[in-house]
Amino acid sequence: MNELYGRHRRVLPDWLALYYDDPIEITHGEGRHVWDADGNRYLDFFGGILTTMTAHALPEVTKAVSDQAGRILHSSTLYLNRPMVELAERIAKLSGIPDARVFFTTSGTEANDTALLLATAFRRSNTILAMRNSYHGRSFSAVGITGNRGWSPTSLSPLQTVYVHGGVRTRGPFAHLADDEFIAACVADLTDLLGHTRPPAALIAEPIQGVGGFTSPPDGLYAAFREVLKERGILWIADEVQTGWGRTGDHFWGWQAHARSGPPDILTFAKGIGNGASIGGVVARAEIMNCLDSNSISTFGGTQITMAAGLANLTYLLEHDLQGNARRVGGLLIERLRAVAAQLPGVREVRGRGLMIGVELVKPGTDEADPETAGAVLEAARAGGLLIGKGGGHDTSALRIAPPLSLTVAEAEEGAAILEHALRSTQ
Ligand code: PMP
Repeated sequence: MNELYGRHRRVLPDWLALYYDDPIEITHGEGRHVWDADGNRYLDFFGGILTTMTAHALPEVTKAVSDQAGRILHSSTLYLNRPMVELAERIAKLSGIPDARVFFTTSGTEANDTALLLATAFRRSNTILAMRNSYHGRSFSAVGITGNRGWSPTSLSPLQTVYVHGGVRTRGPFAHLADDEFIAACVADLTDLLGHTRPPAALIAEPIQGVGGFTSPPDGLYAAFREVLKERGILWIADEVQTGWGRTGDHFWGWQAHARSGPPDILTFAKGIGNGASIGGVVARAEIMNCLDSNSISTFGGTQITMAAGLANLTYLLEHDLQGNARRVGGLLIERLRAVAAQLPGVREVRGRGLMIGVELVKPGTDEADPETAGAVLEAARAGGLLIGKGGGHDTSALRIAPPLSLTVAEAEEGAAILEHALRSTQ
């Protein structure tokens, strides 16, 4: 056991669980691989969600960070900051939101918190619609809109939250329906809800739920919701913390799978844009972003060093068409894993898009979640040299695969073979 084990409780409270019976201390990485303190090398199929969007130790990002560190680390929103303005301009353009304004934070939680601040002020309402099984962060307000009980440690939020059906396609009262019927049932449910709640400020939704197990709602669900919301002036906040920057392959943002709805009113992002540097942020059209009426400051939102990392990372991502890579390599990986799943009664579904792939496990021959086997698969994959994640609202029974977006075909095949072996050996 790593000698940090036990000592870690000085900083990570009992409600923060580590992965693996013998938890890993990651010491360094390169490309799609990481090494632990014992010198073991792992192919990293989860680093993309744990912030490494493009590649570990990407030379372009390393250089940008060290150049900036050699100039100045000082930061404040009281002064002009060139990398901050330049990154904001690029994100505003990419967002698809008309007259978009960007505000940088240091995390996804803080981005969603800011989105709630804006939406509640803009609409003068503290009622929020959120999706069942959702995860939006760890602040006082974010836990209050998180519909996944396992990830919402308190319930004392001052927000009035109403949870909506639809984020999870395969479970719940509408699971047996065809896609268009599923959408119609969720819209009817939403419309009914709106008949007896206070007028909400916004609906917040992850286009594909991340912590919730990489669920896949039918394309067009949020477009259909949008029509109902728009009629009533209710804002749509897309939480793109996991789905943004091309991860889903077909689209740059997750909301684009629902494109008929047009862009969201507010979009939040975080995680991968800094390739490990802590950047989060909110994009909204000017009238929403500017609806607050007092001065404020963000000391660490948009520091020069994180913005330099973000600019270098975004440039690399676009110049190397990593979205296209996610589509191609992710497509192959999904196909390969579906072929394995077809032979294993304990695998209920392989779902997702691009390099955001969920594998849901059940007790063979039943619909019952199987978190024990999910844990065993994680251990077996690690023993084979592969890191994956797990998640899901139903007892954490989904495996989560989100490699850095530069994953090669050979690495996808190698990882799929290790995962196949881990799945077979634990059935
Ligand atoms: N929203 C989503 C969809 C997330 O997955 C997460 C993190 N898992 C957050 C918000 C919170 O981000 P952070 O951990 O950076 O606060």
